[in-house]
Amino acid sequence: MADPITPVLTKRWLSPKSWTIQSYEALEGYTAVRKALKGTPEQLVQLVKDSGLRGRGGAGFPAGIKWSFMPPNEDKPHYLVINADEGEPGTCKDIPLMMADPHSLIEGCIIASYAMRSHHCFIYVRGEALHCIRRLNAAVREAYDAGYLGIDILKSGFDLDITVHAGAGAYICGEETALLDSLEGRRGQPRLKPPFPAAAGLYAAPTTVNNVETIASAPFIVNGGSDWFRQMGREKSPGPKIYSISGHVEKPGQYECPLGTTLRELLDMAGGMKDGIPLKFWTPGGSSTPMFTAEHLDVPLDFEGAAEAGSMLGTTAVQVFNETVSVPWAVMKWTQFYEHESCGKCTPCREGTYWLAQILERMVDGKGTEEDIDTLLDVCDNILGRSFCALGDGAVSPITSGIKYFRDEFLALCETNKRELVGAEA
Ligand code: NAD
Ligand code: SF4
Repeated sequence: MADPITPVLTKRWLSPKSWTIQSYEALEGYTAVRKALKGTPEQLVQLVKDSGLRGRGGAGFPAGIKWSFMPPNEDKPHYLVINADEGEPGTCKDIPLMMADPHSLIEGCIIASYAMRSHHCFIYVRGEALHCIRRLNAAVREAYDAGYLGIDILKSGFDLDITVHAGAGAYICGEETALLDSLEGRRGQPRLKPPFPAAAGLYAAPTTVNNVETIASAPFIVNGGSDWFRQMGREKSPGPKIYSISGHVEKPGQYECPLGTTLRELLDMAGGMKDGIPLKFWTPGGSSTPMFTAEHLDVPLDFEGAAEAGSMLGTTAVQVFNETVSVPWAVMKWTQFYEHESCGKCTPCREGTYWLAQILERMVDGKGTEEDIDTLLDVCDNILGRSFCALGDGAVSPITSGIKYFRDEFLALCETNKRELVGAEA
């Protein structure tokens, strides 16, 4: 079993009216910001570097290093932008966090903004999550009324405004530069990187884009210290993580565990496979991460462990499928999602996802041929590494990993077709 940990990010989630400022303050809320504002921005950046906190949006980039890319001068305004456009299939950790404990995100925003000399922070929330936008707006109002936001916060001389912005439901706006375009009022499409946002981000000014869970971790690190944070998880992937378990398990939900927890341990916590039907395949971090099978039950789910086993940690959206699910069907559904969400900017992804969906739909419809498997892999090969942003790479993951582990199932669809054709000819 994973070392049991005292809940950190989720510790307030079950307390009465956990989303209110009264409840938050009663449980040590806004104590970290008082501490942080007494130190210097440089000390905060160093603390987060020392903690080893890595980005929780999927890519795992070290948060303290990202903060340190912001220029020390303030020739232009600096911005902190929170990526709350949670959209990866299976991913459902940030919206519960913002619903249950919005003030932990707001306190994190104040600490991170102070560290990066930003006086305006935007929280870009997925448009469909209207309930979450309302809750965040209410919490931001409470924070202004209590003197945690606005001018001269807690008499420190530091000013900060927070704006909650609703997206309009495009998955691509979760890509940080598309998000910035959208925030500026333009059609959300990825920008060329470099320049990275720290050099030219929102309104071409220095900007840091961080995920909700990353920023909500900051108050705990300020209060607990970097050594405390490093006691959890693994050396290169320290800290606690919210694993979202969905699909064929008895008790789906959010499970906060140290990074490096395995699926076997998560399944124990989630009450095991639903109705005892055996596991067939699963994703470690959303559909953009190559699937795993029952062979991978003991893979440590941290950034290195998942990569060494041939996948990625991604958003720790653990989607569990039992033996009743057809892999080609599930792969087709994911591919239809990517085809629909492709922003159309680059040819490999725009055209490739269209053709992948067409071929998979034909196969699942019993009209495929064996050649289709090679064509699928060939199209994937022409998308992977040749697309403008990570959406293209993510779109091929379910297909290449599905064929890698379950080629027979794809072949069986074609063989059925062959038999039917032979029967028809006879
Ligand atoms: P990335 O590795 O390109 O970048 C990660 C972060 O590090 C970015 O903020 C980037 O600006 C910064 N960065 C990287 N190299 C840098 C450098 N040399 N200088 C300065 N900054 C640098 O990854 P990405 O394209 O931003 O994100 C891909 C990930 O997004 C995937 O792993 C996927 O799991 C995840 N994802 C998440 C969701 C969701 O709903 N949370 C949806 C889709 C994808
Ligand atoms: Fe748009 Fe897809 Fe190209 Fe990304 S990879 S820029 S989503 S077309």
